[in-house]
Amino acid sequence: MTSTPVRKPALAVLGKRNLELGPFTRGDAQQESGPWAHWRVRTDEDGIVWLLFDKKDASANTLSEPVLAELNDIIERLERDAPRGVVIRSAKASGFIAGADIAQFRGVTDVAELETQLSRGHAVLDRLDRLPTVTIAVIHGYCLGGGLELALACDYRIAVDDASFGFPEVLLGLHPGLGGTVRLPRLINPVAAMTMMLTGRTERARRLRLVDAVTQERHVRGAVRAAVDGELHGSKQDFVGTLLNTKPARQLLARRMASEAARRAPRAHYPAPYALIDLWVEHGGDADAMQQAEIASFAKLLVGDTAQNLVRVFFLRENLKKLAGGDWQARRVHVVGAGIMGGDIAAWCAWQGLLVTLADTNRNAIGGAIKRAAELYGKIGRDNRRRVRDALDRLIPDLKGDGAANADLVIEAVPENLDLKRKIFAAVEPRMKPGAILASNTSSIPLEALREKLARPQRFLGIHFFNPVSRMQLVEVVGHDQVAPEVLAEACAFLGRIDRLPAPVKSAPGFLVNRALTPYLLEALVMLDAGMKKEAIDKAAKDFGMPMGPIELADEVGLDVCLHVAETLRGSLHREMPEAPQWLRDKVAKGELGKKSGKGLYDWKDGRAVKSHEDAAPPADTADRLILPMLDACVTCLRERVVADEAVLDGAMIFATGFAPFRGGPLHYARTRGIADVRAALERLAAQYGPRFTPDPGWDSLS
Ligand code: NAD
Repeated sequence: MTSTPVRKPALAVLGKRNLELGPFTRGDAQQESGPWAHWRVRTDEDGIVWLLFDKKDASANTLSEPVLAELNDIIERLERDAPRGVVIRSAKASGFIAGADIAQFRGVTDVAELETQLSRGHAVLDRLDRLPTVTIAVIHGYCLGGGLELALACDYRIAVDDASFGFPEVLLGLHPGLGGTVRLPRLINPVAAMTMMLTGRTERARRLRLVDAVTQERHVRGAVRAAVDGELHGSKQDFVGTLLNTKPARQLLARRMASEAARRAPRAHYPAPYALIDLWVEHGGDADAMQQAEIASFAKLLVGDTAQNLVRVFFLRENLKKLAGGDWQARRVHVVGAGIMGGDIAAWCAWQGLLVTLADTNRNAIGGAIKRAAELYGKIGRDNRRRVRDALDRLIPDLKGDGAANADLVIEAVPENLDLKRKIFAAVEPRMKPGAILASNTSSIPLEALREKLARPQRFLGIHFFNPVSRMQLVEVVGHDQVAPEVLAEACAFLGRIDRLPAPVKSAPGFLVNRALTPYLLEALVMLDAGMKKEAIDKAAKDFGMPMGPIELADEVGLDVCLHVAETLRGSLHREMPEAPQWLRDKVAKGELGKKSGKGLYDWKDGRAVKSHEDAAPPADTADRLILPMLDACVTCLRERVVADEAVLDGAMIFATGFAPFRGGPLHYARTRGIADVRAALERLAAQYGPRFTPDPGWDSLS
């Protein structure tokens, strides 16, 4: 039975009982005892028992079966001899609990076994919920997923200033599975609860009604005593909340929630939000039934393809993060070229705490870049005016380029022209500190050509950002024949420092991402040329799971940029590739460049493509014609060792192009569908549409 205590979400800031720092604040291990590997237990002089969670051999706390088994053991002892109060808090500086240990979700197939495990977890939290004493979760840093579910099973939640809360399960194709779907809608307004679980958004404590008090670290003990003494007042779910939890209200609200979910992703690709809505509508009025249904629904989702692939994506990201794991202590970056890319790279680096000088021969370009930076900071730093001001202070206009002399990293982002870039290097390199790194943001010039006249080619490489820099997480780190391995590692660490994911690639035409995207975009143009509706082409790609169709993407990227990349690739690859049609060149010549000019393949209004044939149906082979050439290019990149392995390749394609995450990446999709099947489909397309579909020989070694 899940009896959830409902309390008033009073956001009191406790300052009155100004007590000294007690021995139980985080990280303090004095006089703690117990036979447990992950928990330390101690009773303070007020008779309050503190359970300090400190997961063994881990930098962050996550929930796992052994952790919950130990907690169960501790609760069992507390039941026998109930203290005045019980506090659960983390001993890790990083935060309370980051959620469940995701590694245990990998490769799960046995629904019955999973349901049994989940029931065991539920039993522990129910036991905590029923403990006949006041229970308090004291939370600092993050409190996510299973961690929040544990906190919800306590009577009170006291947040330390910096705490943030969320249910990110939906991002893994799941919903909460340890009673969160039962407890949260009973504690706070159910619409707010459902929104939190459906979006996976993380919120600060002060915004949340599920927290009973927000305080500062030095007042934690005072807040705990107040809770134990019954001075922290809570009240029941309010009238509106209760009303919204009735069946007719749930049914009405669920329709709106489902159509909102459908706008974001279809049920067939992302079933979790719909499963959560169904759970609430069906069982929202009965906690016991909801709990059982939550277990069954979670287990069904977790063994499904979507959740397993999204769990895979989680680890693909971890894999890329690991590559960025080195220590980058340096602080100064100098950017040459304040255009679309250079301006935005500089802005992003300054936002992430680096000191940035921004050079350009054109004063207006620097002014424009700083204006764009202010707009960006205004959007992403709404809550933090001080951070916005500091970031703008760190972004320094540098018309003379003097910043190069002090920089640890110089990034060149002038127009794509070999002679111009070489001229810049000749002027900048002699001014640089000997240990500094020189990088180019080139998208198509071979690094071997760029490094030719450098004095220190070993400290030069490509750092290829994508547009828009603030939204594209992936950055290609491009090597060449003379680069020092430690320079590649330093560049990856720099990207980790600015919260980007590095994908190391070899200098080859289009590197990885543009090489794979170009055949996809060109095939869409061939279809357009043959009279197919652009909306139908985009629909086929979106139905496959791409975040946007290739026609819309070409407009987003800019038709001039697409044309340039396509022509460079056509000229440098020994492979059949469609030629960009003349009408595309004409459009570019007329300045119809896509979103940025308001007109391209679509007309653009208020930042959105105007689509007039939304319901146009694509022919059955459209998705294969678009996606399989992309897969084929990925296989070429693997065969040519442009990228080291399938994990980096799949991660790079997902985080740079949004390749249908629920399919786990292009190579994973090919393997799931069957290598032989994909190759046979390519051969059929080659027979019907031409040799550009001929499968790469690299497929042989994948079989
Ligand atoms: P851009 O034309 O918007 O900006 C280039 C800037 O360089 C301009 O402000 C120009 O005034 C400045 N510049 C020209 N000569 C200079 C000089 N001698 N010294 C200092 N500044 C000078 O170009 P962009 O789109 O930002 O592209 C820059 C680089 O990034 C190119 O190599 C391009 O291939 C690459 N890139 C572009 C994109 C994209 O989507 N635009 C994406 C990835 C990589």
